[in-house]
Amino acid sequence: CQVNASEDYFCSYEDLTVHRLMLSDVPRMAAYKNAILSNKSYFEGSVVMDVGAGTGILSLFCALAGAKKVYAVEASSVSSVAKEVIQENNFSDVVEVLHGRVEDAVLPEGVKVDIIVSEWMGFYLLHESMLDSVIAAREKFLKPSGKLFPDIAHLFAAPCSTPKQLALQLEKDKKFWADVCGFKMNSVGSLIAKSRENTPEVSTVVEKGDLLSSGTKLFSLDLSKITLKQLDSFEARKFISVDRDGEYSGICLWFECEFPHLSKDDLDEEKGSLENSDKSSCDRVTLSTSPFLPPTHWKQTLIMWPPDTIAAIAAENIEETAEEIGDKSKDLENSSDDSNKKWIVENGEVVGFKLALN
Ligand code: SAH
Repeated sequence: CQVNASEDYFCSYEDLTVHRLMLSDVPRMAAYKNAILSNKSYFEGSVVMDVGAGTGILSLFCALAGAKKVYAVEASSVSSVAKEVIQENNFSDVVEVLHGRVEDAVLPEGVKVDIIVSEWMGFYLLHESMLDSVIAAREKFLKPSGKLFPDIAHLFAAPCSTPKQLALQLEKDKKFWADVCGFKMNSVGSLIAKSRENTPEVSTVVEKGDLLSSGTKLFSLDLSKITLKQLDSFEARKFISVDRDGEYSGICLWFECEFPHLSKDDLDEEKGSLENSDKSSCDRVTLSTSPFLPPTHWKQTLIMWPPDTIAAIAAENIEETAEEIGDKSKDLENSSDDSNKKWIVENGEVVGFKLALN
């Protein structure tokens, strides 16, 4: 991969083992396949754009669902592999691979697409995410009545103890630095531990047993409407009560994406009918990276708090009244502290924390 530094991101996708990892992620594959094939009536005869087509798998699902034309846009050199994959499956008459960034893509004059499919999600949804590119494609190429697959994304958070796997690793590290060929090197170990303190573990396994509550939704994004400006920063202050006693050592983040479930009405809408479709259909397919569900290649994101742990008491074991807890929650809302401190302390007591993700 010989390109300038700003294109490092695309180089990472030239490693085919990354694509193997994504293609063997069962919940991810099942969600996209079900979402597309359960909307066959909508895909039939439609024009689709696959933003960041990779090896072309999502384009193949769309072709199988009956799309008339699929533009598979891929910026990395994997686009040539995608071409071969499309040929291997005899879909070259439907799927056209366009090599280049979607921002620079050119479609035949006047062509707009009915559907944009994309798997753009990064760790904790937005890490090094290509959502900006999907929004650019939406603005430039999607018909006003067009649909995005997925069209909604949610970010969740839950307080957690040090995950078992990480605790074992930390224990091993400690032992290692305590005796390197008979010499103590704990000072090196502490420096490494310190450097990790402010760095979220963006992809780590957090098991449900590590969580102190079932979590709360931090925010939802409506991908059909969200603007680039709105993506600049997110702020969410939530008061989360803890469901079980335990050592509170950090916060676990995960995301979910929802896909549209389109009915006959949506097709009518497409043809100019003013009827509105039921967007809240319970048949919507969801791709979840929750620690309560089978694992995906995204795993979860963990932000560990310094100091290491704090004893957490389950809400049902707290003697404060609901009003008192409510007051604390309000204080959090009103706190004007916008420094980078992670803990919010009141009268010497930790009452909350700030998320400081970029
Ligand atoms: N759709 C494939 C690959 C998803 S990974 C699948 O589901 O398996 C995301 C892909 O998007 C990578 O191959 C990356 O190179 C590509 N990509 C990222 N930003 C892009 C952009 N702005 N234009 C075109 N391709 C992009």
